[in-house]
Amino acid sequence: TSPSLLQGNSLAARDAKSLIHAYTNLSTHLTDGPLIIETGKGINVFDENGKEYIEGLAGLWCASFGFGEEELIEAAIQQMRKLPFYHSFASKSTQPGIRLAEKLLEIAPAPFSKVFFANSGSEANDTVVKLVWYYNNSRGLPEKKKIISRQKAYHGVTVAAASLTGLPPLHNDFDLPIKNILHTSCPHYYRYGKDGETEEEFAARCADDLEQLILKEGPDTVAAFIAEPIMGAGGVIIPPATYFEKIQAVLRKYDVLMIADEVICGFGRTGQMWGSQTFDIQPDILSCAKALSSAYLPISAVMVSQDIFDGMVKQSEKHGAFAHGFTYSGHPVPAAVGMRTMELMEERNILGHVRHVSKRFNERFNALADHPLVGEVRSMGLIGAIELVADKKTKRSFDPKYKAGPKTAQAMQDAGVISRAVAGDNLALCPPLIITESEIDEMFDRFTKGLDDVA
Ligand code: PLP
Repeated sequence: TSPSLLQGNSLAARDAKSLIHAYTNLSTHLTDGPLIIETGKGINVFDENGKEYIEGLAGLWCASFGFGEEELIEAAIQQMRKLPFYHSFASKSTQPGIRLAEKLLEIAPAPFSKVFFANSGSEANDTVVKLVWYYNNSRGLPEKKKIISRQKAYHGVTVAAASLTGLPPLHNDFDLPIKNILHTSCPHYYRYGKDGETEEEFAARCADDLEQLILKEGPDTVAAFIAEPIMGAGGVIIPPATYFEKIQAVLRKYDVLMIADEVICGFGRTGQMWGSQTFDIQPDILSCAKALSSAYLPISAVMVSQDIFDGMVKQSEKHGAFAHGFTYSGHPVPAAVGMRTMELMEERNILGHVRHVSKRFNERFNALADHPLVGEVRSMGLIGAIELVADKKTKRSFDPKYKAGPKTAQAMQDAGVISRAVAGDNLALCPPLIITESEIDEMFDRFTKGLDDVA
């Protein structure tokens, strides 16, 4: 985009004059302006000039049914006409929230007892933090409050969720993390595995790091551990073999709750309904969002075990109410869209489709392993990334000043596929789950062209 675009009264100029953008360099934005997306259809979006892009990240790892699913639009319209808003405070309820809660409990990867609705992944994870504290107070364990997350984790941006996140830019100068939130090692074998160490040995070392941290802090002070099954914004990091098995053995030993953040992995991304199923995680608490409504309207959910719900009941008796909840918790319109999304997953056998087309997706990723700029390819189901390196042999990263990741993402965008540079120089793909094999080929052709254009 040329700076001249920002003169006059173009949409781009008006944007730069009026909007604060998320995760954007606010200074270069003033001269470069935005990419303005106007319409969407299937896996494609179109900008204001009519240029077509494949949305290789399903927006923000979320629009699982692409950008024009009439069934979801219809579900929203019908619910809007019937009851455009109602809330869930003081024992009020609506049918869409009840139906969606039942559905989530039915498909859940663990025997959860109840569902709480919020609007975003961040709100869900902030809720999780409060529930852990509330629960341990109900158990008479007021000292057992620390929550352990991982370096490079992404759990959102609200005060507690950003604290859980293990990416320094989310903490720097925001005065985070808050107290009682700690970070243990990131299970990225390619980066942190030692020479000669097998994946399983590396997993054992990660579990040992966790155990040492718990022992150092004192097991009586550690309440919970939170993890994304596959780390998304941290670079699409797939855990090494046996990682969660070993981690969960440590958690059980010290009475530490397991929290699964399924905001990206939930609803089919890994080829199973939940990342917890793919990696054999038995969570006590689960947060989900994004593909819950194919991102057509904001909605997130937290599921809790019977024990945790019992503790919440006890606290609400003590204080007269469970004093937490959002104006839009269980909003009937997003809940209706969420319910229709869950039905469509079944009616169209989306899980079977993902398992089928992901073979092609993974083949195309693996074919990039020999590229001179690519240090590692990581992919599973319909999520993956390439990690760019300056030196393949030594795994040396590019100098951050060079902005290899963002530059490559821009070249890919010019070639007609929207990817995203995450956690440095990792280019991620996480397309709508409805993508076909031939669309996967077209997406990778453009992705590779962008890569070659910067090489
Ligand atoms: N958790 C994970 C794993 C995520 O990837 C995200 C967002 O990308 C969040 C939480 C935060 O969700 P939101 O942006 O809806 O607040």
